Amino acid sequence: MSFDKIRQKLSILADAAKYDVSCSSSGGKRSNNKKGLGNNTGFGICHSYTEDGRCVSLLKILLTNHCIYDCAYCVTRKSNDIKRAAFKIQEVVDLTIHFYRRNYIEGLFLSSGIFKNSDFTMERLVSVAKKLRLEENFNGYIHLKSIPGASDELMREAGLYADRLSVNIEIPTKSGLKLLAPDKKHEDFIKPMEKVKNEILQYKAERKIIKSTPRYAPAGQSTQMIVGASGESDRDIMYSATYYYKKFNMRRVYYSGYIPVINDNRLPSLGTEVPVLRENRLYQTDWLLRFYGFSVSEILNDTHKNLDLDIDPKLSWALRNLHLFPIDINKADKQMLARIPGIGMQSVFKILEARKFRNLDWTHLKAIGIAMNRAQYFITCNSKDFYKQDLSSYDLKNKILKSSKSKYDKYFNSQLSLFS
Ligand code: SF4
Repeated sequence: MSFDKIRQKLSILADAAKYDVSCSSSGGKRSNNKKGLGNNTGFGICHSYTEDGRCVSLLKILLTNHCIYDCAYCVTRKSNDIKRAAFKIQEVVDLTIHFYRRNYIEGLFLSSGIFKNSDFTMERLVSVAKKLRLEENFNGYIHLKSIPGASDELMREAGLYADRLSVNIEIPTKSGLKLLAPDKKHEDFIKPMEKVKNEILQYKAERKIIKSTPRYAPAGQSTQMIVGASGESDRDIMYSATYYYKKFNMRRVYYSGYIPVINDNRLPSLGTEVPVLRENRLYQTDWLLRFYGFSVSEILNDTHKNLDLDIDPKLSWALRNLHLFPIDINKADKQMLARIPGIGMQSVFKILEARKFRNLDWTHLKAIGIAMNRAQYFITCNSKDFYKQDLSSYDLKNKILKSSKSKYDKYFNSQLSLFS
């Protein structure tokens, strides 16, 4: 195969893979055994995202963009008139090794359209990973996209060679899936997810008894949801994400704003892209649910079905619950401290640690690195507080937005003056 042909394939299949955002690699660990090539540290390889969301430190490609399915939201769907291409197994192996040796990449993210059937495709994805590990002694990071409906046996094999596996749920609700991807069944996603979860648990348990038991998908499994293709509210999306985290021990759920690629009356019209800010707000909420002790219903409910775009979800929650504030920085427990806008989890731990030695005042809080422009209205510290101003939540929100804006303007102007 000539170099030009490979380049052509690469440009088609790398471009088709850019819609998948679930390629970060945190958590994988695979050491070089001195006979092999590369290694993958516990910090994960660095994720470098291009403007359109691609993670450039991984070779991120599809094995093929041929597909027998016709999911309305997907550029690769069979009815779309696009250039098609397919890599051979050995071509992906060679590309990965060559790119790795040249230090272009730290690993491989391999997904695929479905050709012939799920098992036929999955078998090829597994073969790439297997060849890289067994024939090339490749110890870099491998993330394989699992094909919905793939057999248990192939899923088991995939996890023995890949660091991370993911099955993209794509559409957050069953009704949305039925409308936009009628060829796919909900169970086609659930079954492989269940299999991966069980295998991870089983291999971990066996490793405790027999040290030589191989690791199974050491970086766990993840999934991705498309946001804004099927009209789900942020509440629907976050309930769905919580279900996948709990039921399948997901490491990450990724949220990818829908980019209109077709005029189809089931989908938002062309030119109505989901704002990046909506994705950010979903990620912030995801974080609050997993690490800050919030429940979905506190942030999103019948009266508040979608996240505010102008303020972050924690500030939004605090403004709707002003009766809980101000919180005494020197007395509050960890859970309440974590609920104060402008105070992150790291600052919570610093406050708890510092409190062992002294009563904290405003100077200490600033030194800890708290975002005082937000936090000051929600706390009391040595009996001093700003909260007495008795502002309504509406006025308070405007005041905070104004101070954030002037802070941003100040920073922006100082940056400009550097170049003038
Ligand atoms: S099965 Fe996957 S690749 Fe094929 S059309 Fe649906 S989303 Fe696209």
